[in-house]
Amino acid sequence: MSESPQNIHLPDSIVKWVNVGIFVVDRGMKITLWNNFMANHSGRGADTVIGRNLFDCFPELPKTWLSKKIQSVFILKNFAFTSWEQRPYLFHFPHNRPITGSVDFMLQNCTFMPVKNETGEIDSVCITLFDATDTGISQTELKNAMDRLSEDSNRDGLTGIYNRRYLEQHLLTEFDRSKRYGGHFSFMLFDLDHFKKVNDTYGHLAGDAVLCAVSQHINSLLRTVDVLGRYGGEEFGVILPSTNLEGAIVVAEKLKQIVAQTPVMHKETAIPITVSIGVTEFKAETPNYEHLIHCADLALYFSKENGRNRVTRYTDELESKNNLRPTLFT
Ligand code: GH3
Ligand code: MG
Ligand code: MG
Repeated sequence: MSESPQNIHLPDSIVKWVNVGIFVVDRGMKITLWNNFMANHSGRGADTVIGRNLFDCFPELPKTWLSKKIQSVFILKNFAFTSWEQRPYLFHFPHNRPITGSVDFMLQNCTFMPVKNETGEIDSVCITLFDATDTGISQTELKNAMDRLSEDSNRDGLTGIYNRRYLEQHLLTEFDRSKRYGGHFSFMLFDLDHFKKVNDTYGHLAGDAVLCAVSQHINSLLRTVDVLGRYGGEEFGVILPSTNLEGAIVVAEKLKQIVAQTPVMHKETAIPITVSIGVTEFKAETPNYEHLIHCADLALYFSKENGRNRVTRYTDELESKNNLRPTLFT
């Protein structure tokens, strides 16, 4: 927006009492007008600042940046603006909002207007300052609430780890990235062994506690880049970026061993737990991310078949063995 320099004369009482900060500086940064809003919020009356240099009166102001901004208005003869989103405040004005912690000072939107004297020459800049604290606080709260909602929608309600939706979304991202740029990554599924028996023996609440404890324990053993999610009831998935099948097998063996060695304590009862794991890796010919889930699931099935508390790597042979598997209908 381009505006021509103003020489509108408002009644002094409006300028004085309006609930917006208004002050004027000349080319030497000397304050020539200072309204009540500015006086009330700064604690400095007009009589103590008029005729004095702006930056001497308010050393907290960002001098280099603000001088440049004001100079540009003199030179370009145009309006200029600053918003709290780019620069939260110029003056350190206290705000008296009940919400603490979120903002230190009154958030400020400012307008810089060139002002002409009687001879038509621009000899001052008028700065208006709007209190944007309410807008800033509600926008920040809204953003925080939306971030929390989005985070919650990715989490499993019981264990707090990622849910299946997020796990699959992340698997797709990792798949797309590796398809395009190459590189390794692996995927594993693990399932708690005889978990039905845990519920039957110790109760459903103990079962819930076991799911929480095991998932937290495993999460603590993984790297921060690995993504652990609850795939279903007592079944979990792990995405291992930049990890080939050999590396993933090492991780899986370690997890299997540690879980088996660490019974979950629930109300002073030690509940022994083991897991069965299926592991697969991304290959250039992997058709889609769902195929990785299929491969890990098939390998997991063979871990169960071969006695549980074990790790199976996916190989193409498993497919033929699986085809030979008797089903209920044959
Ligand atoms: P397997 O070794 O073959 O995996 O045997 P399993 O008993 O673990 O498997 P099965 O599929 O027969 O039973 C899974 C059990 O997991 C049954 C179900 O009630 C229990 N389960 C699933 N989700 C939850 C949950 O959120 N909390 C609790 N406490 N139990 C759950
Ligand atoms: Mg199970
Ligand atoms: Mg299961």
